[in-house]
Amino acid sequence: MISRPMQISTRIGVVQAIAGFPRFGYRGMILLRDAHRRKITRRAVFARDSWTCQYCGSRSNLTVDHVIPRSKGGASSWENIVASCAPCNRRKGDRLPRQAGMHPRRAPRTPGAEIFIAVAGENGVQS
Ligand SMILES: [Zn+2]
Repeated sequence: MISRPMQISTRIGVVQAIAGFPRFGYRGMILLRDAHRRKITRRAVFARDSWTCQYCGSRSNLTVDHVIPRSKGGASSWENIVASCAPCNRRKGDRLPRQAGMHPRRAPRTPGAEIFIAVAGENGVQS
Protein backbone atom coordinates (compact mmCIF):
# COMPACT_ATOMS: atom_id res chain seq x y z
CA MET A 1 0.00 0.00 0.00
CA ILE A 2 1.39 3.36 -1.01
CA SER A 3 0.88 6.11 1.53
CA ARG A 4 0.27 9.54 0.04
CA PRO A 5 -1.24 12.89 1.01
CA MET A 6 -5.03 13.06 1.05
CA GLN A 7 -5.21 15.79 -1.57
CA ILE A 8 -3.25 13.79 -4.11
CA SER A 9 -5.26 10.72 -3.27
CA THR A 10 -8.49 12.62 -3.95
CA ARG A 11 -7.33 13.93 -7.30
CA ILE A 12 -6.12 10.56 -8.39
CA GLY A 13 -9.40 9.06 -7.32
CA VAL A 14 -11.30 11.57 -9.46
CA VAL A 15 -9.16 10.91 -12.50
CA GLN A 16 -9.43 7.18 -11.98
CA ALA A 17 -13.21 7.32 -11.81
CA ILE A 18 -13.47 9.53 -14.89
CA ALA A 19 -11.04 7.55 -16.95
CA GLY A 20 -12.81 4.32 -16.17
CA PHE A 21 -9.60 2.37 -15.95
CA PRO A 22 -9.77 1.09 -12.39
CA ARG A 23 -7.35 -1.71 -13.24
CA PHE A 24 -4.49 0.81 -13.52
CA GLY A 25 -2.67 1.39 -10.30
CA TYR A 26 -1.43 4.55 -8.72
CA ARG A 27 1.44 4.87 -11.18
CA GLY A 28 -0.86 4.57 -14.18
CA MET A 29 -3.02 7.40 -12.92
CA ILE A 30 0.00 9.67 -12.52
CA LEU A 31 1.00 8.97 -16.13
CA LEU A 32 -2.54 9.64 -17.34
CA ARG A 33 -2.60 12.96 -15.53
CA ASP A 34 0.80 13.97 -16.90
CA ALA A 35 -0.27 13.12 -20.44
CA HIS A 36 -3.11 15.62 -20.20
CA ARG A 37 -1.35 18.27 -18.24
CA ARG A 38 -0.30 20.51 -21.10
CA LYS A 39 -2.52 19.37 -23.96
CA ILE A 40 -4.24 22.35 -25.56
CA THR A 41 -7.88 21.80 -26.46
CA ARG A 42 -10.59 24.33 -27.13
CA ARG A 43 -12.49 23.27 -24.03
CA ALA A 44 -9.42 23.46 -21.82
CA VAL A 45 -8.70 26.98 -23.12
CA PHE A 46 -12.31 28.02 -22.51
CA ALA A 47 -12.27 26.51 -19.01
CA ARG A 48 -9.02 28.29 -18.15
CA ASP A 49 -10.48 31.60 -19.36
CA SER A 50 -13.79 31.03 -17.51
CA TRP A 51 -15.68 30.65 -20.80
CA THR A 52 -15.22 34.38 -21.35
CA CYS A 53 -13.88 36.28 -24.36
CA GLN A 54 -10.58 37.71 -23.21
CA TYR A 55 -11.09 40.83 -25.29
CA CYS A 56 -14.67 41.94 -24.58
CA GLY A 57 -15.98 39.61 -21.88
CA SER A 58 -18.67 37.99 -24.03
CA ARG A 59 -19.63 34.43 -23.13
CA SER A 60 -21.14 33.43 -26.47
CA ASN A 61 -19.73 32.41 -29.86
CA LEU A 62 -16.41 31.47 -28.31
CA THR A 63 -13.43 30.57 -30.46
CA VAL A 64 -9.74 30.39 -29.71
CA ASP A 65 -7.44 33.20 -30.81
CA HIS A 66 -3.68 33.28 -31.27
CA VAL A 67 -2.63 36.46 -29.48
CA ILE A 68 0.40 36.71 -31.77
CA PRO A 69 -0.96 35.39 -35.09
CA ARG A 70 0.69 32.25 -36.37
CA SER A 71 1.46 34.11 -39.60
CA LYS A 72 3.58 36.47 -37.51
CA GLY A 73 5.48 33.73 -35.74
CA GLY A 74 3.13 33.17 -32.81
CA ALA A 75 3.31 29.72 -31.26
CA SER A 76 0.40 27.39 -30.58
CA SER A 77 1.21 27.43 -26.89
CA TRP A 78 -0.79 28.08 -23.75
CA GLU A 79 0.92 31.45 -23.44
CA ASN A 80 -0.29 32.54 -26.90
CA ILE A 81 -3.85 31.20 -27.07
CA VAL A 82 -6.91 32.78 -25.45
CA ALA A 83 -10.67 32.39 -25.60
CA SER A 84 -12.14 34.97 -27.96
CA CYS A 85 -15.67 35.48 -29.23
CA ALA A 86 -16.08 35.22 -32.98
CA PRO A 87 -16.70 38.97 -33.50
CA CYS A 88 -13.50 39.88 -31.60
CA ASN A 89 -11.58 37.21 -33.46
CA ARG A 90 -12.75 38.69 -36.78
CA ARG A 91 -12.06 42.22 -35.65
CA LYS A 92 -8.54 41.41 -34.51
CA GLY A 93 -7.92 39.38 -37.64
CA ASP A 94 -4.29 38.80 -38.53
CA ARG A 95 -2.91 41.66 -36.47
CA LEU A 96 -0.75 41.93 -33.40
CA PRO A 97 -2.47 43.03 -30.17
CA ARG A 98 -0.69 46.35 -30.42
CA GLN A 99 -1.83 46.88 -34.02
CA ALA A 100 -5.42 45.94 -33.25
CA GLY A 101 -5.49 47.73 -29.91
CA MET A 102 -6.82 44.48 -28.43
CA HIS A 103 -5.08 42.91 -25.46
CA PRO A 104 -6.19 39.87 -23.45
CA ARG A 105 -7.64 40.75 -20.06
CA ARG A 106 -5.38 38.24 -18.38
CA ALA A 107 -1.97 37.11 -19.58
CA PRO A 108 -2.53 33.54 -20.80
CA ARG A 109 -0.73 30.85 -18.86
CA THR A 110 -0.61 27.09 -18.73
CA PRO A 111 -3.48 26.10 -16.43
CA GLY A 112 -3.22 23.81 -13.45
CA ALA A 113 -4.21 20.15 -13.50
CA GLU A 114 -7.63 21.01 -12.06
CA ILE A 115 -8.69 22.44 -15.43
CA PHE A 116 -7.92 19.21 -17.24
CA ILE A 117 -9.67 17.10 -14.66
CA ALA A 118 -12.74 19.35 -14.89
CA VAL A 119 -12.72 19.18 -18.67
CA ALA A 120 -12.27 15.42 -18.63
CA GLY A 121 -15.21 15.16 -16.23
CA GLU A 122 -17.47 17.11 -18.57
CA ASN A 123 -16.46 15.64 -21.86
CA GLY A 124 -14.52 12.46 -21.46
CA VAL A 125 -10.80 12.03 -21.44
CA GLN A 126 -10.39 12.47 -25.18
CA SER A 127 -12.04 15.89 -25.43
ZN1 LIG B 1 -15.18 39.37 -27.68
